[in-house]
Amino acid sequence: MPGIYFIDVTNRDGVQTAHLGLSKLEKTMINLYLNEMGVFQSEFGFPTTRHEQFYLQANLELAETGVLQPIRLSGWVRATTSDVATAFKFVPGIKHLNLSISTSEQMINGKFLGKKTKEDILKTMVDAVEAARAYGAESIGVNAEDASRTDIDFLVRFALAAKEHGADRFRYCDTLGYDNSFTIYEAVKILAENGGMPIEIHCHSDLGMAVANSLAGAKGAIDGGQDVYINTTVNGMGERAGNADLVATVLAVTKSKGFAERYKLVKPIDLTRAWKIAKFASYAFGVPIPVNQPGMGANAFAHASGIHADGVLKDPQNYELYNYTELGRGEPELVETGREICSGEYSGISGFRHIMGKMAVTFADAKEAEMILELVRYANVEAQKPLVEEELLFITKYPKIAKKLLTLKPLE
Ligand SMILES: [Zn+2]
Repeated sequence: MPGIYFIDVTNRDGVQTAHLGLSKLEKTMINLYLNEMGVFQSEFGFPTTRHEQFYLQANLELAETGVLQPIRLSGWVRATTSDVATAFKFVPGIKHLNLSISTSEQMINGKFLGKKTKEDILKTMVDAVEAARAYGAESIGVNAEDASRTDIDFLVRFALAAKEHGADRFRYCDTLGYDNSFTIYEAVKILAENGGMPIEIHCHSDLGMAVANSLAGAKGAIDGGQDVYINTTVNGMGERAGNADLVATVLAVTKSKGFAERYKLVKPIDLTRAWKIAKFASYAFGVPIPVNQPGMGANAFAHASGIHADGVLKDPQNYELYNYTELGRGEPELVETGREICSGEYSGISGFRHIMGKMAVTFADAKEAEMILELVRYANVEAQKPLVEEELLFITKYPKIAKKLLTLKPLE
């Protein structure tokens, strides 16, 4: 029986969100947390974007040295031979790519303005797939952008052509969140039965259905005989109304009525890490977690009304589908209410030693402390907010990697 994998795209779709973004160190922390949770793959960025290249290279080094293992790190590029070439030029060690191209008539006509036909789309895509193979890509996904507004027969042709030329997966992108759970199920099942490849489900929340549609799409793929790779983002961060939220989607797959009995995760996801990654992403993006966010909101386990409070005190299962401890919640949070010494881009050695001393970090000598402090300053330049403990510990533990991922070289 085929199964379900998770691909998180916070570091690609999430950071495309208007008004918001992540520093390269924050992106790295997200990769580390996703890996700890057991997420199969992180779409970790844009290998054709100049300012991304040292971050991507540094994270691949973390993978090579076993720090970022076993998670797969994949890059997103447009499905063109020139993008593929640039990706391997900027990030030679990249192993996994998703190649994206618009497939709907709306976008082919509306974006390419009559310069491309459907046949051109197929040709451009297969050329890109072949180029990625030639450069040595180990896995290739092909993304049909706006798949939900694309004629299903063309999507099947697209998938078959991609497969024939060496692609490994087909990404069904409901780019505008246009599908509902019934339509995505039907479309994905047809693609699974006829496209010959595992399917990625990429859903958006414009109509508030990203999580439900991800589940329905996953069912369609598996009923059609293929493995499925659900795309999520932490806290649902993503373009416009966002993507399928990672934690909510894992909860839906594992806890919703009868689903997990037939549709199973290929590898377990450790939800006890959910609280940590959701809180970090909220801090890093500067976007509070809504009080009613599934599992993670302040009210997700709060009960006030008489009947509910009485019921949950007698037996939590009266009014809770799952326990907060399963999601890593329950520890009291320490918030400094008095004097605070925190890191910043203009931090000095005394304050820095104080911060690190609180975490029981000591340095071999003054030179080492100065060097770590310098890296912390650079990280603060990018983040524009105090670093969290785990970021400071990361820089202390991996200063060479930190130096690399903080490197920005504009216009050589
Ligand atoms: Zn998207």
